[in-house]
Amino acid sequence: MKIGVLALQGDFREHIAALDSLDLDIEATEIRRASEIAEVDALVLPGGESTTIAKLARSFDLFDVLQKRISAGMPVYGSCAGMILLADRVVDAARGQETFGGIDMTVRRNAFGRQIDSFEMDIDFEGINGGAVKGVFIRAPWVEEIGQNVEVLATVTQDELLHPVAVRQGHLLATSFHPEISGDNRVHRYFVQQVCQNLLVGK
Ligand code: GLN
Repeated sequence: MKIGVLALQGDFREHIAALDSLDLDIEATEIRRASEIAEVDALVLPGGESTTIAKLARSFDLFDVLQKRISAGMPVYGSCAGMILLADRVVDAARGQETFGGIDMTVRRNAFGRQIDSFEMDIDFEGINGGAVKGVFIRAPWVEEIGQNVEVLATVTQDELLHPVAVRQGHLLATSFHPEISGDNRVHRYFVQQVCQNLLVGK
């Protein structure tokens, strides 16, 4: 199975390293052109700056191709900015900000506020065994509202309110945090083995 990592901006190298560290029968590769998207079975949208990634995807003529493949069922995992790019709706978006969409959810950009721009927290992740996952949050979004087909896999409590920070809708997985820089590759393993499962079986 070939997994592309969108390499226009952000921490795509860390995602490649996390995928490589799984020691599974997969090939992780950087994607910058429309022709390369056709060659991958699944995709990762990295952390970074969601507005910049969307704009670059437009300028490189990747936007529509990506959106089409996402809606046609290609498995995709998005972390942080990648989560925003998979959201059907964004609160506190930049003016004219576009997303690929696919997950029936509203996310709030930079949701955790200035005082805690960046923080780490242990996260209980539904479907991942072996103890809490280390969540690294950097100007992270959270999920404000979900449609009925969206499964919440992890939450964070702030001011006594629960906020989803990991969600899945079928072939699409998104986290507010960055497992690619935590040294804990279990979310990537979950993506490959649980979300891309059908692709693995077919190979
Ligand atoms: N705040 C960024 C955005 O809106 C996301 C930050 C990140 O990916 N670490 O795109």
